Amino acid sequence: MITTYIVIGLFGLCFGSFLNVCISRLPRGESIVLPRSHCPRCNHAIRWYDNIPLISYLVLRARCRDCHALISPLYPVVEALTALVLVLDFHVYGLGPEFIKYALFGMLLIVLIFTDLLDRRIPHAVTIFGICLGLVFSFFIPVDDRPFGWIFRHWDIYLEGFPASLAGAVGGALVGGGLFYAVREAYYWLSGFSWLGGKSKEGLGFGDVMLMLMVGTFLGVPLTLMTILLASLMGSVLGLGMIAIDPRFRKYQWPYGTFLGIAAIYTSLNGAWLLDWYLRWSGMAA
Ligand SMILES: [Zn+2]
Repeated sequence: MITTYIVIGLFGLCFGSFLNVCISRLPRGESIVLPRSHCPRCNHAIRWYDNIPLISYLVLRARCRDCHALISPLYPVVEALTALVLVLDFHVYGLGPEFIKYALFGMLLIVLIFTDLLDRRIPHAVTIFGICLGLVFSFFIPVDDRPFGWIFRHWDIYLEGFPASLAGAVGGALVGGGLFYAVREAYYWLSGFSWLGGKSKEGLGFGDVMLMLMVGTFLGVPLTLMTILLASLMGSVLGLGMIAIDPRFRKYQWPYGTFLGIAAIYTSLNGAWLLDWYLRWSGMAA
């Protein structure tokens, strides 16, 4: 058992190393296959023995072997985080198709968390791939079909098996993406009024809408709504806290995708439990 955890952790470190490549190259529209990794300052190709996750960072003491430029601590952070998410996925789901689904979901989200944080970019290449992947997985692993299952039942349409799962995935995408699209349009429209600052501006990028379409296909409606709720809570607490410390943060452009990504990973691991607890606590479930 403990060996499986370690093996999955090691795989996580290696996948994390690949995610680092995606995070630094995708926002610039570069290929994630070629050329080989090189130092961003001196352009020297990185030797294979200097490219071992976590270990190389420690051995090289965070510096390039050739020009001694500092290596960003984000590289080992992304590697460790990927290993952690995969180990937690295994802990929750065991080894099976669900583990594969949520491990892939988590890794796509880690890429988006960091591209939004570092570059304010949510690459369509990742989200479109994710939306397709989420729909494909809904064939094999049932997605929560609430509330569409209930709505259809009122018309005496009883969805079961794959159609129910697909309704859950598509419903999640429509609700998640739709809500963000509506907020984005409303903000754009409202910010156009002179008393609210004059010039129309974008509060949310279209990338956030795409991110929520992807989250919806993996999680279904209830857990997608929970993702939005948790991300808003996290964003508000952090945002208000930072503004209290330094009022200049009022002008800071917050990476909403980063909050949404973190919330979606948490929800994919523990959301069903939290939703159950919430429904019981609020009296909505018997
Ligand atoms: Zn260098």
